[in-house]
Amino acid sequence: ISSVELTQSYLDRIKQLDGDYNSFITVTEELALTQAKKADERRAAGDASALTGIPLAHKDLFCTEGVKTTCGSNILDNFVAPYESTVTRKFKEASAVMLGKTNMDEFAMGSSNENSHYGAVKNPWDTKAIPGGSSGGSAACVAARLAAGATGTDTGGSIRQPASHCGITGLKPTYGRVSRYGMIAYASSLDQAGPMAQTAEDCALMLNTMAGFDLRDSTCMDREVPDYTATLNDSLEGMTIGLPKEYFSTGLDAAVEQRIRDAVTEYEKLGATVKEVSLPNLELSIPSYYVIAPAEASTNLSRFDGARFGHRCDNPADLMDMYKRSRSEGFGEEVKRRILVGTYALSAGYYDAYYRKAQQIRRMIRDDFMNAFEQCDIIMGPNAPTPAFNIGEKSDDPVAMYLSDIYTLSVNLAGLPGMSVPAGSVEGRPVGLQMIGRHFDEGRLLNAAHRFQ
Ligand code: GLN
Repeated sequence: ISSVELTQSYLDRIKQLDGDYNSFITVTEELALTQAKKADERRAAGDASALTGIPLAHKDLFCTEGVKTTCGSNILDNFVAPYESTVTRKFKEASAVMLGKTNMDEFAMGSSNENSHYGAVKNPWDTKAIPGGSSGGSAACVAARLAAGATGTDTGGSIRQPASHCGITGLKPTYGRVSRYGMIAYASSLDQAGPMAQTAEDCALMLNTMAGFDLRDSTCMDREVPDYTATLNDSLEGMTIGLPKEYFSTGLDAAVEQRIRDAVTEYEKLGATVKEVSLPNLELSIPSYYVIAPAEASTNLSRFDGARFGHRCDNPADLMDMYKRSRSEGFGEEVKRRILVGTYALSAGYYDAYYRKAQQIRRMIRDDFMNAFEQCDIIMGPNAPTPAFNIGEKSDDPVAMYLSDIYTLSVNLAGLPGMSVPAGSVEGRPVGLQMIGRHFDEGRLLNAAHRFQ
């Protein structure tokens, strides 16, 4: 099958089915077919890599030159990116095909994909359910087989949690593994891009392309990129799995817990041993994250002022009026809430009480992980306390929504790689097993996931 045929079949499926899921904000049909044609030519010339001609979708927070890039926000509804993000550039250079840009919570703030200016995304397994967020469009389009794979970003769980709820595989790499250049910033010290696909093998192929040093991102690590497919089949004999006792306590749905424990039993059959470990400050990850992330967001989002790009209000009376009205009209509720929280936490007199304290907790959380990794090679647990909840169920209660991030946030605070792998379902809604590795141990996560699949 040629890439043109493959791309056309995905485009047809998107046309047929995405009316139900709303996983795409923009479908780049013409561009995709042009890229597919080029990919076929490359393949014919013997100049192809594993992803040449493979149709992928990109979260709509990666800047894509000449293509609308909204970040799920009204304030960027008219924004056509003038340059290409490093991640999407690398896929382009490999001649992967871009099918379009996927729906997401506005500025990646959310856990349910209900915060998008372009409407909620629906979970293909059960359209009454949320797909998870913020990379909900990416997760849903892969789950519905509207794309072979998709990029996502994860600031506090946004790759792992939607992957978990949509029954696909997703990997958040170590902070610094993948360049953030050209990603619209949410919380710069936490944001990291990663692959979302059906299998760990597909994620490995995507990560091979995405990872690596980039002079344009000062936090990107200059460190060799291994071939992540080379170790997929390694034996798990002798691997020690740590189960944090705090991950299996109150708040975790019993049926979800059972799926996770069943998965761990499978790993024991594959030769792994299991140990209980402790992450004593887990609960503090929520207040720490929900100070640090909004604080960084409040400064990152100051660039959307109606002056330089994006939405500008009609007939501003003066400069102040333009700032105020452009931002009030452009941003949604949740984004405004975070800007207010972040601005407050950073304001003079409050910095020590909130931001500094949050950073101190962040250090403690990192140290807890380092201690746990003295006793085990990989940590396992759930991604979320329950399977996907219903659309609308938590949308009026932001705190309840924040609390559902309990198992994912700390991984970003510690800069570690984390992954979600399908591990069955509860009443038709998928459950994912979360795996957390040492810094730069993506290879081991992918290996463990692959052996399980
Ligand atoms: N749910 C978290 C938040 O709303 C994480 C989002 C993300 O990882 N981008 O901030």
